[in-house]
Amino acid sequence: MKIPILIVDDDPAIRDSMKEAMEIAGYNPYLAASAEEALDLLNKNMFHVVITDILLPGLDGLELTDLIKERYDTDVIVMTGYSGDYSYEEAITKGASDFVFKPVRFEELLLRLKRVLKERKLTKDRNEMLETLQKLAITDGLTKLYNSRYFYNQLELEIDRSKRYNHPVSLLLLDIDHFKLYNDSYGHLEGDKVLVKLGRIIKSCLRTMDSAYRYGGEEFTVILPETNGQEAIGVAERIRRIVETEKFTPETEEGKEITITISAGVTEYYPNEDVATFIKRADKAMYSSKERGRNTVSSLFVQKSS
Ligand code: GH3
Ligand code: MG
Ligand code: MG
Repeated sequence: MKIPILIVDDDPAIRDSMKEAMEIAGYNPYLAASAEEALDLLNKNMFHVVITDILLPGLDGLELTDLIKERYDTDVIVMTGYSGDYSYEEAITKGASDFVFKPVRFEELLLRLKRVLKERKLTKDRNEMLETLQKLAITDGLTKLYNSRYFYNQLELEIDRSKRYNHPVSLLLLDIDHFKLYNDSYGHLEGDKVLVKLGRIIKSCLRTMDSAYRYGGEEFTVILPETNGQEAIGVAERIRRIVETEKFTPETEEGKEITITISAGVTEYYPNEDVATFIKRADKAMYSSKERGRNTVSSLFVQKSS
């Protein structure tokens, strides 16, 4: 597809000759006689680059550059006469990517345009790569849930929010029962599949504001903002019930259907306690589920004094 370029100049002769040069060079040129016309076109089309004259009736080219950089993901090249009304520095300060003098030599303009487009592409690629890396840094590779590093981060944030607005926040800790036995019986790879499936089940039980994490090997946590302990018990119970009815079919055991269970601990944040105390209480609750025979949900709360 040809790259769309917007040319802004109040001189029709310049517009036409620029259009021709751009077409010959393989671009898709659009024309505007004023900044206002250009903004109109920018609202309707996506332009990679705008090439604008500085002296225009109405808004001038620098004011246009300012607006473009504020509103659109578009590069700007400004053109000006040698009159010295505007400086190179001024144009670049406004956010222009490059500057050419009039009368414009097309060879030079095309080279500058090419360079601006190349830098655009590099910036875009770099931003995409950064985004991917940022996602990787907070994701558990196996289950694609968030990882424990992100858990601590988000828990701090949610606790801050809870304190600020005096809203509840609850925490679930889920641990697979006798998972070592599953691995020993069917192999580590089959165990991994269980972890993946469990991640999906947990996610399917959550609202959009809730978040699930792989906390450790076969342990998961869920942060439930705006949720009190009683509601959190309901969520944990729902996950527990779905897990116990799910059938797992290890490839090593042809035709065999295996079920697994989880033990859950639930707690609600107690105002002003530190994060470690909060997590420890969820852990304690989870261990009492283990002690009570597993496949169960236990909760532990700090009584609020009124
Ligand atoms: P309990 O009911 O007391 O929790 O028993 P358990 O066997 O689940 O607990 P234990 O802590 O003794 O063992 C945890 C097991 O989880 C050990 C390990 O084989 C398994 N595990 C931990 N991380 C992974 C993993 O990434 N993949 C697989 N397949 N297994 C894992
Ligand atoms: Mg464990
Ligand atoms: Mg376990």
